[in-house]
Amino acid sequence: MDVKKQQVFNRVINEGIEFIRLQFIDVFGVLKSVNVTPDELEDALEGNLMFDGSSIDGFARINESDQCLVPDPDTFQFMPWRPTEKGVARMICDVYNPDGTPFEGCPRGILKRVIKEAREMGYELNMGPEGEFFLFHTDSDGSPTLHIHDKAGYFDLAPIDHGEDARRDIVLTMKQMGFRIEASHHEVASGQHEIDFKYGEALKTADQWVTFRDVVKNIAKKHGLYATFMPKPLAGENGSAMHCNQSLFKDNKNVFYDINGKYKLSNIAFNYMAGLLKHAKGMTAIGNPIVNSYKRLKPGYEAPTHIAWSNSNRSTLIRIPVRRGSATRIELRNPDPVANPYLVFAVMLKAGMEGIKNKLMPPPPVEEDIYNLSEKQRKALDIDYLPRDLFAALKEMEKDPLIEQAIGSHCYNRFLEGKYKEWHEYAEQVHQWEIKHYLAKY
Ligand code: GLU
Ligand code: MG
Ligand code: MG
Repeated sequence: MDVKKQQVFNRVINEGIEFIRLQFIDVFGVLKSVNVTPDELEDALEGNLMFDGSSIDGFARINESDQCLVPDPDTFQFMPWRPTEKGVARMICDVYNPDGTPFEGCPRGILKRVIKEAREMGYELNMGPEGEFFLFHTDSDGSPTLHIHDKAGYFDLAPIDHGEDARRDIVLTMKQMGFRIEASHHEVASGQHEIDFKYGEALKTADQWVTFRDVVKNIAKKHGLYATFMPKPLAGENGSAMHCNQSLFKDNKNVFYDINGKYKLSNIAFNYMAGLLKHAKGMTAIGNPIVNSYKRLKPGYEAPTHIAWSNSNRSTLIRIPVRRGSATRIELRNPDPVANPYLVFAVMLKAGMEGIKNKLMPPPPVEEDIYNLSEKQRKALDIDYLPRDLFAALKEMEKDPLIEQAIGSHCYNRFLEGKYKEWHEYAEQVHQWEIKHYLAKY
């Protein structure tokens, strides 16, 4: 056994851990997990744990269903919300085929491949995601309701209530798990919270995002609340985003910063941003993967609706926060928190790298509030729409060959299949709005 695996083994024995959860993410961003006991750990660490891939959404067909989990010892983490005695730890896994080759549809493997391509060009992607979510009350059966626990708004210090207590506990738990928390605050909508953790290497950050969602849900539950990352749970209120703050490093230096560049940004930063803008439509379905995602991307709720960039304007797709030097970064604002972080980071990095390879340059920034521009003004400025629903986004995804190159054919095809099905199921329904507006009228 190599050193890292041995360390995991020692910790399990020394800390009296009785259950080790092997976790991985399916194509649609859902966390899956299987428990092993210390007796089976050695086998599991060697990647000998087989599972039925045909039972996982978007993975294998029934006739080729055996797959293996290969745990990454670097992700070994004690789960603080489980009992401390006979405790529970977890490791995030890569999915392999039985012949020992990486499974091409494994989202974590996909991100690793794109990161490797960027490294071959000399670049390391750093990512800082901002996590927004709602906390709702549960009913007597413990099912989520739409009742909110507070009436607070942005940065409000709500009187100490369930929500504040839950958020505090979430932050403390994350810290116990090795996160560095940069900020945590009440967001604009009632019942809405945000937690931002320190940026880091993209793969590690994607793993952390998966952990973050798990912590938020579990700690909220302990407080009798239900946490949801659904992008737009309440009509008429802001939705929840996963803003992706990204920067490229070379030899430990942020290459987006150039003291002599326009806005103190380097050409590399402009090229990368132009790549994101060029592929924005094609990437949308990956970052906004459910029907509900598009209810968030509407004017007036601080969420982007159009493809443009700016220095501080919150109505554009890309914003360049004011910090410079090593904190220089590009903030992509459309992804939402239900997206599969491995796939989102993979397509973004691929798009940015294409921008660099082809030396693309973005149009000038748009500093006006895009929501207030007329259709004519937007046309004059050549500002295009983001896809306005899941169906349109899937069509755009099919038009942009870069997306299939980024996530590989297996994942690409399964994603499209699953998402078209989801769209058609939704489109067949008759919604409350239609009843309200049409039933009595016609
Ligand atoms: N909640 C807003 C959204 O859905 C973002 C608010 C912010 O700028 O942090 O995109
Ligand atoms: Mg926010
Ligand atoms: Mg932000």
